[in-house]
Amino acid sequence: MLKSRILIPAVATALSFSVIFAVTGCEIPKVITDLSQAEETAEREVGETDEPGSAVQTEESSENPEESVVELEDAGLPQMNPDYIGKTAEEICAMLTIEQKASQMVQAAVYQTDPDDMAENDYSSVLSTYSLWPEYTAGQWLELVNEYQAAALSSEAGIPFVYGQDSVHGVNYADGCVIFPHNINLGAANDPELAYEIGVLTGSDIVHTGMIWNFAPCVAQAADPRWGRTYESYSTDTDRVISMSTSYVDGLLSQGVIACAKHFLGDGDVLFGTGENSEGIDRLIDRGDAVLTEEQIEERLSVYEALIETGVQTIMLSHSSLNGIKMHENEELISRLKNELGFEGFIVSDWNSLQNISGITYRDQVINCVNSGCDMLMEVDRFEEARDIIVDACASGEISQERIDDAVTRILRVKINAGLFDDPYFTSLIENASYEWNSEYSHEVARRAASASLVPIKDGGYLTIERGMRVFVTGPAADDTGVLCGGWTYVWDSPSDDEAGLRWVRGSRTILEALEEASSECGFTVVTDPSQIDTCDMVVLCLGEQPYAEWNGDAWDLSITGDLGLPWNEEAIVLAENSALPTLTLIVSGRNVILDDYIGKWNSVVMCYLPGSEGGHGIADVLTGQTEYTGTLPMPFYSSVDQIGSGQCLYDVGYSAVGG
Ligand code: BGC
Repeated sequence: MLKSRILIPAVATALSFSVIFAVTGCEIPKVITDLSQAEETAEREVGETDEPGSAVQTEESSENPEESVVELEDAGLPQMNPDYIGKTAEEICAMLTIEQKASQMVQAAVYQTDPDDMAENDYSSVLSTYSLWPEYTAGQWLELVNEYQAAALSSEAGIPFVYGQDSVHGVNYADGCVIFPHNINLGAANDPELAYEIGVLTGSDIVHTGMIWNFAPCVAQAADPRWGRTYESYSTDTDRVISMSTSYVDGLLSQGVIACAKHFLGDGDVLFGTGENSEGIDRLIDRGDAVLTEEQIEERLSVYEALIETGVQTIMLSHSSLNGIKMHENEELISRLKNELGFEGFIVSDWNSLQNISGITYRDQVINCVNSGCDMLMEVDRFEEARDIIVDACASGEISQERIDDAVTRILRVKINAGLFDDPYFTSLIENASYEWNSEYSHEVARRAASASLVPIKDGGYLTIERGMRVFVTGPAADDTGVLCGGWTYVWDSPSDDEAGLRWVRGSRTILEALEEASSECGFTVVTDPSQIDTCDMVVLCLGEQPYAEWNGDAWDLSITGDLGLPWNEEAIVLAENSALPTLTLIVSGRNVILDDYIGKWNSVVMCYLPGSEGGHGIADVLTGQTEYTGTLPMPFYSSVDQIGSGQCLYDVGYSAVGG
């Protein structure tokens, strides 16, 4: 099945078992399809609540997560089976039937199951997402999660379930929440304390939603910027990846969140041209094959070793292959994690990925994947079938009882350690969270992170705006919140504001808006009317890429005016050139783009990557000299696609035109 996400009406009431599941009609391949509906909602909501922390509320839902918990307690919801209290994972596992154990080994998509199903089957985990706009508020998510939890606890097995979510740059599926810069920015900032703070703040926001299993961090070392997931990678440099990811995980763990290192192993090393052909999609590079030597494998393993030492509880397998073997059936490497590196948590498969490994039938594939060491199967719509296959294969001896007990014990151990058996409705977790939901401080830190991640790659003057200047601000990335945030923002394959026809990230400020806000205090004038360009002293040219996720960002051509460049990049380049004014070019993109045809025309160039909802202010802070340029290249910068993989590059990791 295609990786689809579902759009349901934005304002669904969470505490009714039936409403949400009655309306999952329109399946969509990537971006939400019904933007007219989003727009309608936007018209209703934007303006009234266009501030950080604002939230769409329904009568039934409560904005304050703490209040929801109190309501749930008052409602006399099912509580933990006392027989489990104080028991070890092994002891609890021994109390379960084979059917109950197999249910612990599968994970369902939220739109393919419902709390009634949970009450009957007690599935281990549910994952998002609906792809809403506006997304649920924290309170609405918490109510939804607790609804499933009540169902899980009322089931015969009574094992708490855990909700998994890709909160990969903040809680990017909750309305109003701060959107932190993507990992590539954090790699550019290369500041472990900042990464830790972002982990704490994201973790704190997560617990307010109850979606306490975070499918992050992605520790891919993206070797080829033509890969659509490059921005999910911190760096090509192993030390930076270790430093950023362990600091971030430390932060998540401090809040009681379950972290998930992904994608094991070699996801970032996949070779151009080897992309997976599945579900009718012929990918260019994503999910392809990585060819690595033993030495390189050990280097990649060292990242996981560091994360295991830090306490990461789960690891997600990569869709890709390593030296021709799909990672979902790479028994040798999975066993190195568990036996060589002492990993005691559990391994989860990626989205329907076992369906692409060897095996003539689905049954063969499930058995193969479990026997290769995968403990939980993210089979978004075939979870029930997968569960039944596990039960059957145990009876036939094709999967041993030991393998099943190992998987279930690992899953239960993670759940016990995360406090799910003591605090299934997250009351204490929320009480102990370091910050209130979507705190002002989280916006401050996101702004700081955006500033710290800017990398000047050319300095020919005009890197900052001087007092008294008239500044012509132009380009399609100048006034677009969606472009600043990139993929995985409310929906999987997020749109630009332009594409959505609305401000995609409410409460966010664009580069233009932030410069306008800063202008009076800093004593300069922002001009946007092209007829006045001749009256200006410099141009700030804001170019960017269309947001994308996963293989949708795979590209043949990385030119800023190529396929994935924003539609008006070229026109804006021509406008700036014709003005003959000194030009500072800002590149808002998830990766190295090829600038060779244009860079000579510009005085200075700054890579902004995907700086998030506070990116406008973060950029303005540096351009107005309130903060210095401190970012350095997290990955080599290529001047042509021919340099990729050749050992040649224009600038190497660590470079900054202002000295770094
Ligand atoms: C991605 C993962 C993600 C998962 C759940 C997969 O396709 O590869 O990174 O965590 O979907 O959304």
